[in-house]
Amino acid sequence: MSNITVCARFRPLSSKERRDHGDSVCIRCIDTETFVLKDEKEEDIMFSFDRVFCEKSDQAEVYEFLVLPIVRDAVNGINGTIITYGQTGAGKTYSIEGPGILECDEQKKGILPRVVDGIFEHIKPDKMAKYSIKLSMVEIYMEKIRDLFDLSKDNIQIKESKIQGILLSGATEMSIIDPAQALQSLSAGIANRAVGETQMNMASSRSHCIYIFTVQQELTGDKRMKTGKLVLVDLAGSEKVEKTGAEGRALEEAKMINKSLSALGNVINALTCGSGRANHIPYRDSKLTRILQDALGGNSRTALLCCCSPSVFNASESLSTLRFGARAKHI
Ligand code: ADP
Ligand code: MG
Repeated sequence: MSNITVCARFRPLSSKERRDHGDSVCIRCIDTETFVLKDEKEEDIMFSFDRVFCEKSDQAEVYEFLVLPIVRDAVNGINGTIITYGQTGAGKTYSIEGPGILECDEQKKGILPRVVDGIFEHIKPDKMAKYSIKLSMVEIYMEKIRDLFDLSKDNIQIKESKIQGILLSGATEMSIIDPAQALQSLSAGIANRAVGETQMNMASSRSHCIYIFTVQQELTGDKRMKTGKLVLVDLAGSEKVEKTGAEGRALEEAKMINKSLSALGNVINALTCGSGRANHIPYRDSKLTRILQDALGGNSRTALLCCCSPSVFNASESLSTLRFGARAKHI
């Protein structure tokens, strides 16, 4: 990994938080990179990230700082990954999808519709090359990969090819021809996620959702091909479910999630450790890290958005989220 950009985002207090716990917040932003969290013992813990988005920050700011550079690279054949991390309700899906993929006002549009616009903006002016854009959408639940474009494919296998890298064997690849059709496809995939939820009685917070855009460029002159993969990951909630005394299925889910999130942390740490020696990168420890292998490793860019509630009530979960971000940045 050439570099990882780590940002924190604090959503506004929810009306429930205000009602149940009052207006007190545990976060104080100092400048665009530095902020302080007051923990449960009233101690101030200072963090310095590449950027902090406070509650007044809007979707455009997040996109321009965190995502746009990755979109520019992806259309030039450089892989990139954008990951949202945080407890359930912290703003991961809001950041990625916005309030809705198809209908929402311009200002509130999430990362996905902006990525779609960004890809088409960046490929348009170029008359020297032909482009093809593909989109896959899968969900990982209990270490099983489900195709969100075709629910009958509920146990997708990961394969590795010398030329194409990591592949989701048999997963649907939608050809994307224009922004409107891309949004329709995304919306259909997201709707399938919801269908699965009621059938299998699971909440989206218990699964990782992965969007994969593949942008292939063929130079019209010498027919050289360049492929850039842009992966967006809406992770399962990082809260420690064991603490709440979860049992049965909920506990099994929590164990799987903890396992894959710690595998992700380990992979990011191993990658950011520096390449002085050929260190082992434990991609194979989870489906999540295996799918992200070529998007995270090698010639790629990664951005991590640590989403947090600002409420004092969630201080310990926010602290754990921010520590994950700090480890990704500094080790
Ligand atoms: P997660 O996906 O992390 O579980 P959500 O993205 O669903 O959390 O957010 C939980 C709630 O908070 C949603 O109702 C969402 O609309 C709202 N929300 C999250 N982030 C923001 C934000 N930056 N501005 C306004 N509302 C937000
Ligand atoms: Mg969500």
